[in-house]
Amino acid sequence: MTFTIKLRLSPGSRMTAEYECPVHGRFSRSVQRRFDGDPPIDVHCEQTVDVDAAAVWDGGVPGNRMPFPCDELCPLVISAPAVHMSIGYVAHTGRSDPHHPNQLDTRPIADGMPVSEWRALQDKKDREARWKQNRKVT
Ligand SMILES: [Zn+2]
Repeated sequence: MTFTIKLRLSPGSRMTAEYECPVHGRFSRSVQRRFDGDPPIDVHCEQTVDVDAAAVWDGGVPGNRMPFPCDELCPLVISAPAVHMSIGYVAHTGRSDPHHPNQLDTRPIADGMPVSEWRALQDKKDREARWKQNRKVT
């Protein structure tokens, strides 16, 4: 798996970041980038929780549930990388020639050639390639 590092240093622009509320769990939100281009390290939750009305104000009737802003401080979490899975693939069977001239061809070893003999063959190919390269230059 390869990763690509993307530097986006455009402070003030919008981006989508993922946060985790201790009550409501993970959520993503469109936020404004900080001065260094990163998203804010925490945001307040905008969900609501049902609380007992008597706990919120003195005139509240005990037992009456009412929505109250959650407002928990939610830290930034690293979101899962976008993984692209293929539904299927075609397996390449059989033999094929090396795709690149510098690609090692280890098929003779698989066919039973001793490794020392194969290395000698590779050295010979390298010498010939260098010889061709030197002839081109001169
Ligand atoms: Zn919350």
